[in-house]
Amino acid sequence: MSQRARFGPAGVPPVFRLMKITIADVPRLLQEEGLDAFEYEAVQWGRKPQVRREEAEKLGIEAKQRDVWLSLHGSYFLNFSGSKTIVEDSKQRLIACATAAEWMGAHTLVFHPGVYGKRPPEVALKMCYDALRDVVQTIRGLGITNVKLGPETMGKMYQLGSLDEVLSLCETVDQTQIVIDWSHLHARGLGRFRTVDDYRRIVEQIEERLGVEALRNLHCHFSKIEYSDTGERRHHTLDEPRYGPDFRLLAKIIIEFKMNPILISESPVQDLDAIKMRDMLREEMENA
Ligand SMILES: [Zn+2]
Repeated sequence: MSQRARFGPAGVPPVFRLMKITIADVPRLLQEEGLDAFEYEAVQWGRKPQVRREEAEKLGIEAKQRDVWLSLHGSYFLNFSGSKTIVEDSKQRLIACATAAEWMGAHTLVFHPGVYGKRPPEVALKMCYDALRDVVQTIRGLGITNVKLGPETMGKMYQLGSLDEVLSLCETVDQTQIVIDWSHLHARGLGRFRTVDDYRRIVEQIEERLGVEALRNLHCHFSKIEYSDTGERRHHTLDEPRYGPDFRLLAKIIIEFKMNPILISESPVQDLDAIKMRDMLREEMENA
């Protein structure tokens, strides 16, 4: 577990890409920016890891040396509540991501559980339990025991991934860890985070159902977000006043509940907004 709140980008920030770096250079560059977390994006992956093992291990070593906390965002092409073929394919994709996450020493493998399709939500959820139990059994057989599978709260109404559903997944399946995407919850709840109490209600549920340790070490995504009546539309930067939610209110909750969360910025300017969030939390701590 982390001893403090940590901040970092989802994927390699655009300015780093311009420098023609390798992935193993990322932890050093983040450290220079005063950031200490990084979510590797494996979002386009298929059934095999699309990183060489030695490259992944090198990233892991660098991240340790630079004190950068690693997580991995799994393939977008998963649906654990689809047809049999799609579910089997999704299992292979998640296993490929777990394999690479283990090579890197990533703590959490974030993933999107699926879509309801024509199924009632409770049936889709039950299918997801079964598929994830199989995945956990397989990865344990492969010796992958350090990576936690992290189902994420999703922003669109048709996606499996309400707060209650991801809580249930984590209560039911071993080797899991909840991932709270605050912006997705905001979009799905049509702008639910307006006050500190709105955030407090969420963290109290997490604490009640998964325990205080799970809450303290929460893995989070945060950015501002635009939504319509079907949920998420697109992520925005913290500088855009017309969009929510407000990170400052979450910062107050982080302090109140003595949390040490990992906060991954999914804004269009990932690293810059990660720095802004870090500074806002510092200010709130000084004023607390
Ligand atoms: Zn995601």
